[in-house]
Amino acid sequence: MTIKRPIYDLTPLELSSFCKENDLPDFVQAELDKWFFLKKDLDQSKWDKISKERMKFLNEKFSFELPKVVWQGLSSDGTRKFLIGLSDGNSVEAVAIPAKDRLTLCISSQVGCAIGCTFCHTGTQGLTRNLKAHEITGQFLAVSQWLIKNVSPTSRLSNIVFMGQGEPLHNFQNVKKSVEIFLNPNGIALSKTKVTLSTSGLVPQIEKWEEFPDINVAISLHAVRDDLRSQLMPINKRHDLKRLFDALKNIPLKTSRRITYEYLMIAGLNDQQQDIDGLCELLPKKRSKINLIPFNEYPGSDYKRPSDEQVLWFQDQLHKQGFTCTIRVTKGDDILAACGQLKTEFEKVNKWDGDRVSPKAIETYQPNE
Ligand code: SAH
Ligand code: SF4
Repeated sequence: MTIKRPIYDLTPLELSSFCKENDLPDFVQAELDKWFFLKKDLDQSKWDKISKERMKFLNEKFSFELPKVVWQGLSSDGTRKFLIGLSDGNSVEAVAIPAKDRLTLCISSQVGCAIGCTFCHTGTQGLTRNLKAHEITGQFLAVSQWLIKNVSPTSRLSNIVFMGQGEPLHNFQNVKKSVEIFLNPNGIALSKTKVTLSTSGLVPQIEKWEEFPDINVAISLHAVRDDLRSQLMPINKRHDLKRLFDALKNIPLKTSRRITYEYLMIAGLNDQQQDIDGLCELLPKKRSKINLIPFNEYPGSDYKRPSDEQVLWFQDQLHKQGFTCTIRVTKGDDILAACGQLKTEFEKVNKWDGDRVSPKAIETYQPNE
């Protein structure tokens, strides 16, 4: 049996070339964009502008099946975590995070991660492999479909952040391709201001940022001194703060006039006055936004989360210095919120074999047991 290419692996340009090469009129692509990508409606009987013959041909060439939601869990704060099964038996996490005016999906770009940050649960697992473009777009489409079916027909994910497992710039081409599919104005049609890529700071790839569609960029900074940053993020040994900021100076900031700096706060390590002073020296105020992330503890982690008072004090000091500074409210604490944690715990008791996981296992699996 030949494995068919998922339709959501094709950029709009690739799909258009395919249609031209195969004498398919323009409306075929328009129908696919409308029903499959925009409405996420897989009922092909509704795609009635496409003749049966053409539909048969498309089904011979492409798969329209979405990746499987192997498990999902709803947190008391409304965050919903999904484990998405891939065809080779691997799985990745995606998290839907509601806020007042949006529903953001945090997606993964790799199975595991090679960077090995010492505070990150995914980092402790090493890299298994890069995700293909369709495994990235597939997370979005599978979760969208699941929400439409199980929550409300009007459910709509409005934003994407590449803040799940993996270092997106390590998987440059596939992530770039997936972003082109997300931004297709006739298809999934996300606005470029609603897609954010977070990176640990891979300088050679940041230097190629202009090749990327014009989306928001977030830098995981976490420390203002090289010794501490290298301790937290081994990548800093190769690409230190000076190299990182030299590269950032040159990136074109079109839509998103500012870069977001994520600053993980760890008790006693990087939450003091000297760190505030360091941030003031390092970050250009007009081009920067700071997002404080209180450390999310998980079993076996060496670090501690600072008190809420400390985090608020830190934010207040940065406000007084004229920075825009937000605090990321940790979501989904009761459903294994630390990135990579759900996958690890799930795999201790269940096996996803690339095709199915026993329904009984899904029903009985409780993440906090
Ligand atoms: N690899 C990319 C994107 C994925 S990680 C990056 O590092 O930017 C997304 C964010 O989650 C990063 O800012 C990372 O530092 C943060 N993160 C990882 N482990 C965490 C933990 N235990 N608690 C809080 N934030 C964490
Ligand atoms: Fe990888 Fe990001 Fe985790 Fe670091 S924080 S190990 S770069 S996923």
